[in-house]
Amino acid sequence: MQYDAIIIGGSFAGLSAALYLARARRSVCVLDTRKPRNRFARASHGFFAQDGSDPLIMLDNMRRQVETYPTLRILEEAATDARREDGRFSVNLANGETVIGINLLLAFGIRDLLPELPGLAERWGHSVLHCPYCHGYEFSGRRLGVLNMSPMSVHQACLIPEWGPTTFFLNGGTLNAQATADLEQRGVTIETVAVEGLVGEGRNLSAIRLADGREKPLDALFIGPSYRFNSDLAERLGCATEAGPLGSMITVDEMKATNVREVYAAGDVTRMGHTVTFACADGVMAALAIHRSLVFGSGE
Ligand SMILES: Cc1cc2nc3c(=O)[nH]c(=O)nc-3n(C[C@H](O)[C@H](O)[C@H](O)COP(=O)(O)OP(=O)(O)OC[C@H]3O[C@@H](n4cnc5c(N)ncnc54)[C@H](O)[C@@H]3O)c2cc1C
Repeated sequence: MQYDAIIIGGSFAGLSAALYLARARRSVCVLDTRKPRNRFARASHGFFAQDGSDPLIMLDNMRRQVETYPTLRILEEAATDARREDGRFSVNLANGETVIGINLLLAFGIRDLLPELPGLAERWGHSVLHCPYCHGYEFSGRRLGVLNMSPMSVHQACLIPEWGPTTFFLNGGTLNAQATADLEQRGVTIETVAVEGLVGEGRNLSAIRLADGREKPLDALFIGPSYRFNSDLAERLGCATEAGPLGSMITVDEMKATNVREVYAAGDVTRMGHTVTFACADGVMAALAIHRSLVFGSGE
């Protein structure tokens, strides 16, 4: 069977696109390995009508709803390769099968590269956080920290006092006079001693252990990790990418089309600001573009 669209990544961006295409009575195959980026968090915040919902339950509900459309198929499989053959895309799956489609949507998301500090990875999404708009409110007025990881960290440390008293862990780095003045002006405490690890019960954080043996009490630590695409398919297909401050993005136009004809991209892989709301909106936009191309032609 030849699908009107193959969607690689069936999470917030991919399933939003799938829903719109299915409602336009088009055939869609969604490939998904079920590892959404926010799977480490117990609750997702800031998405209209779903504030505080478990992100995995949100996606289960979404899958259940889209699967009622007869033209849509979801395969729990990884896409391992994709190429254009005879004007159509062939996508290889990890199970050895191949699916064929006219349009491709890349919505396979990104993965965060967490710093290797004892006690950090297991607290990711719970008391080690990256986005204050997503999880800062739950720590209102508590003892907050920011780990120095890149030039962006000073900016993050200047923002976090909006949610609570903040310590900036320099962790062996240096600060110029302007950065020091900015942090002081925002009331941020600067801790110069290197960080050795995170301490606390279960996934909760109670302190940061420093190299001089002190333990600095803390309830949440914000970090700004760099990231990578979950798949190299954009590069393999010849899609242009551009560098952002923490990782690459697939270059798209306002309709989410890449530079490769009939290849679209949506969600975290295409932008710097990463939220469920943006990912869903991207998916809808890509679906509209794909549908227009199916109805009116791709213009080439
Ligand atoms: C800890 C944490 C907490 C967060 N909390 C919030 C929050 O509270 N509110 C909010 O708005 N945002 C939050 N975010 C951001 C949010 O998770 C992302 O913006 C959103 O998940 C992006 O959706 P997406 O569809 O682009 O990618 P993802 O949700 O990451 O989905 C990508 C999908 O593609 C699949 N996939 C990957 N490679 C392949 C392949 N080769 N073949 C098939 N499938 C593949 C993956 O398994 C996954 O299901 C959080 C992020 C993190 C890290």
